[in-house]
Amino acid sequence: MSKYTVLGIETSCDETAASVYKTDEGVLSSVLFSQIDLQKEYGGVVPEVASRSHLEKIRPIIQKALDDAKFTIDAIDVIAVTTKPGLPGSLLIGLCFGKTIAWALQKKLIGVNHLEGHAFSSFLENDVPFPHLCLTASGGHTNLYLINGFGDYTFLGQTLDDAAGEAFDKIAKLINLPYPGGPEIEKLAQQANFQDFFKYPRGQANTLNFSFSGLKTAVMYDLIQRGAYDLKTKQFSPSPVTLTHSTRFACSGRLERLSADVSAIQASPDAVAKGDGWKDLSESKGLELKKQVASSLLVCVKDIFIHKINYALKSHPQIKSVSFVGGVACNKYLKQELHTFCETRNIQFFSPSPKYCTDNAAMIAFVGHYKAKQGKFEDLSLDIF
Ligand code: ADP
Ligand code: MG
Repeated sequence: MSKYTVLGIETSCDETAASVYKTDEGVLSSVLFSQIDLQKEYGGVVPEVASRSHLEKIRPIIQKALDDAKFTIDAIDVIAVTTKPGLPGSLLIGLCFGKTIAWALQKKLIGVNHLEGHAFSSFLENDVPFPHLCLTASGGHTNLYLINGFGDYTFLGQTLDDAAGEAFDKIAKLINLPYPGGPEIEKLAQQANFQDFFKYPRGQANTLNFSFSGLKTAVMYDLIQRGAYDLKTKQFSPSPVTLTHSTRFACSGRLERLSADVSAIQASPDAVAKGDGWKDLSESKGLELKKQVASSLLVCVKDIFIHKINYALKSHPQIKSVSFVGGVACNKYLKQELHTFCETRNIQFFSPSPKYCTDNAAMIAFVGHYKAKQGKFEDLSLDIF
């Protein structure tokens, strides 16, 4: 058999997703429930909350994927399910569901590595030439792969500590932005025209590994030096007394109204600390500083990514194409900058649409599909380890 209809299931972290992929027709449906609103109040993903939510959502999400594709489960040949890496409690929900369908309805079963799914996500919408370099950047991973063919890839490098998305999320938290931080950082950076105000360290060692935890620490100490972060209370607290020229300019309307009060505020801050004027000034300065941090951070991460891609291209001159995938690849600025860089090197550049950058089941079904063509089926002993 060389044609397959595959049901992909993805529950590795905080998205419950299902997708139908068919030979010659591609993605017929891709359905997802994101737990972002559930997890937001905890400022990150709580594993127990994640698995309970997967349990509730998995059946209706799979049903919707079948309905959208206008199929019943009978038309499915193969169940492809994410087995690793991820939160064990979350992975087990998808795997148990997939194995149960495979056992009860006599379907073929395939386990898919979540990262292999991401690595091939740009293939869902494009014909990508091999040998191919893939940069995967998400909340949990920052990896570089050399991909020579379907299922044939070499791991080139990874983050030694925090992932790029994790760095965005943690730095966003430092400056009081909501979770997830990446999209908020992008919005604010755009308002500051992607300028490099603070020149954070790039750590440009000639290796294909990454490190982002130092960047978070550098941003924190820079904020402390600017009197904008209190290490004891772990609070972002920009002080209006240290207004910069650009802040004065940015909030000049308010300053005009308050200019008469500024010298009094500086002379006796406690007396007026509770006043609206003080609060206004503090908020204006805070927003301006947030934009500058966000903008400097994005430029810094862009430089790090370009440096690593450039180094990989030099070390592997046979590479014909580059892709940028994972949740961080939703970032339009990074995408554009990497695209421009690859153009200057005459290398084709690909990056999936945002719906295939973040976790999704279409990429799992796609990998399941080529594994089915290669006859790589599994039995019911398939596990998450
Ligand atoms: P994971 O499931 O491993 O957390 P995802 O692929 O779901 O990863 O991506 C989520 C990550 O992507 C988060 O860390 C988030 O901050 C980041 N992210 C999402 N959109 C953007 C963006 N526009 N710019 C930068 N990072 C982003
Ligand atoms: Mg996710």
